[in-house]
Amino acid sequence: MGNSATVDTIINGLTSPFAALSHGNMIPVILLAIFIAMAIRTSGSKVPLIHQAVHQLSNVMQTMLGFILWLVPAVIFSLTVVTMTTLGSDIIFKILVYFLTVIGVLLLHVIVSYGSLLYFAKLNPLMFFRKMLAVKFFALGTSSSNATIPINLKNAENRLGISPSISSFVIPLGATVNMDGTAIMLGVASVFAANLFGIELSLFQYLMLLVVIIFASVAIAGIPKGSLAMLSLILTTAVGLEVEDAATLIGIIMAVDHLLDMLRTAVNVTGDATIACVIARSENELNDKVFDDPNACCIIEHINKK
Ligand code: ASP
Repeated sequence: MGNSATVDTIINGLTSPFAALSHGNMIPVILLAIFIAMAIRTSGSKVPLIHQAVHQLSNVMQTMLGFILWLVPAVIFSLTVVTMTTLGSDIIFKILVYFLTVIGVLLLHVIVSYGSLLYFAKLNPLMFFRKMLAVKFFALGTSSSNATIPINLKNAENRLGISPSISSFVIPLGATVNMDGTAIMLGVASVFAANLFGIELSLFQYLMLLVVIIFASVAIAGIPKGSLAMLSLILTTAVGLEVEDAATLIGIIMAVDHLLDMLRTAVNVTGDATIACVIARSENELNDKVFDDPNACCIIEHINKK
């Protein structure tokens, strides 16, 4: 009896991260990965095969991700068309307004907030946005800030000239806690929900919403649709929607969320790189020659090959 309880506990402990993954909760999975990585590092030369196997598995996963990315645009297009055709024309107009509002605010945020942060750090925003194109496209394709960390890091070091000591800290941390694109979507979706269900929000409720959304965006995982679970919580607590109404609203929002998720992820990762640039500049850890050179990456790769 005692033994079987122990076996059950061990099995539950080992499988709970995977059960959590199937519910979209990444934290146990990330913790397990950190502990395994720490154990492999500590074991050092005692486990060379595991070390190699993990590297090779990572390569296989990246190749597989490459295959999947080819299908993403077609799948997203089909899903959006199917959902839109099953909804009525009135709601389609309202969703369109929501969709365009989110895109408009995201654009404004990128141009005004990031642009002025870079400008005040005496960095050319146009050069920055140009050099971020590959990273943004990767974020658009994966809808995941976490999956974009490696390419964002490489770009920050090789093309933006940020020293690895800054980029390797700021970018992974930003991918976890800095989600301004997501916060924008949560804000617009909350106001959209309040309007749709005839709830009038007071100034105090708007302020509460602001605070809740800022904290919620920190807690959201950088994975596709990571914010939708948090949205239902915000709608029921800060906006005051019934659980059924919140579920209906999320169903409606899902019609256009594939595209919005791609866009807000691109904004999230751009924000991480912007902050990394500003911090690197303030710490004297930014190489201006690399930042200002449009072909910087090619030069560094050339040097590395030598
Ligand atoms: N997909 C977003 C990201 O990875 C999170 C979200 O807004 O759902 O940054």
